[in-house]
Amino acid sequence: MSAAQTDHLPWHQPVWDRLAACHRRGRVPHAIAVVGSAGLGKSRLAIRFAQALLCASPRSDGDGCGRCRCCHLQAAGSHPDHYAVHPESEPGGPIKIDQIRRLIEFLMRSSQYGGYRVTLVDPADRMTLAAANSLLKTLEEPPAAAVLILVARQFSQLPATLRSRCRLVQLQPPPAVLAREWLAEHCPEAIGLLALAGGAPLRAMAYAQAGTEGRYAALIADLLAIVEGHRSPVLAAQNWTGIGLRDWIELLQLALAELARAAFTECELDRIPGRADLQTLTERIDHSCLHDYMEEVVATRRILDQPLNEQLVIEDLFIRWRTATRGARLAKDRVSGYAAKVAVGRTSGDSIGLYQG
Ligand SMILES: [Zn+2]
Repeated sequence: MSAAQTDHLPWHQPVWDRLAACHRRGRVPHAIAVVGSAGLGKSRLAIRFAQALLCASPRSDGDGCGRCRCCHLQAAGSHPDHYAVHPESEPGGPIKIDQIRRLIEFLMRSSQYGGYRVTLVDPADRMTLAAANSLLKTLEEPPAAAVLILVARQFSQLPATLRSRCRLVQLQPPPAVLAREWLAEHCPEAIGLLALAGGAPLRAMAYAQAGTEGRYAALIADLLAIVEGHRSPVLAAQNWTGIGLRDWIELLQLALAELARAAFTECELDRIPGRADLQTLTERIDHSCLHDYMEEVVATRRILDQPLNEQLVIEDLFIRWRTATRGARLAKDRVSGYAAKVAVGRTSGDSIGLYQG
């Protein structure tokens, strides 16, 4: 078994079988979108398929042979018929129109090895609108034997016209049993983080390796301390200097999603870090405030490509958190106060109407 094979993720198998079947029949779509939440191995699946398409003699299970010249060139990142585009500046940064123009030029050339020319845009949902539109023109009249693979977490962010021209390959989180089995073998300390990672094994693994557990618990503690008035937003923001805005906002979104889940479903609180504080927090706030606050966080996330003062942005979001939860707490106190009066009214046989206002 080659090294590449041992990297195969078991939850990819059904999707892989379909891709391999397309390849065998010579019916590879011009554009494929590998879509799914973070931590499911979308990029790995895309690269695996690119390898298979470029291999001179793919194996019966659809994988590249790992032995031919094409496979070696591909593994070394120097296959002349392969072209990949990623953000130039930083991992979460934008993919710009110039990068896509170079990709289109590549697609127009003829193949060096006489097979497919395979291009990859990862993550495609980081393309600017201009970049996505320039790609669309190519997809309307795709060159022969050219395959474009888009990898995207938020496929809906791409223009509908572009999406409609892609064959969708949707990855779902594996069944919990399979995810735990795989983690037990590869990263046992991440099993407890699977719920926090939305069931995505590689995400749980990344959390374990990055020490996210501790940071997540610390953020929940900050959110609670701000709600309870024990810590000012400015002071809380100082705890997060140097973390990187993108990572911090992802952590915040994770915490908010967990709070929302706790409010509306049976939450697996015992499985996640900072559970005691999270439990207290769910009791302290009125969850009606979460939706609007989450929108504000998303709006901030959208402007992360601009140069921002990290400290000020974190402060601002903590201040907004205090404002959002303060209003909601007042409302909650009024409601629970009223509910208490109603309850008293009922037990004493009085008219409920007497206690209104
Ligand atoms: Zn090969």
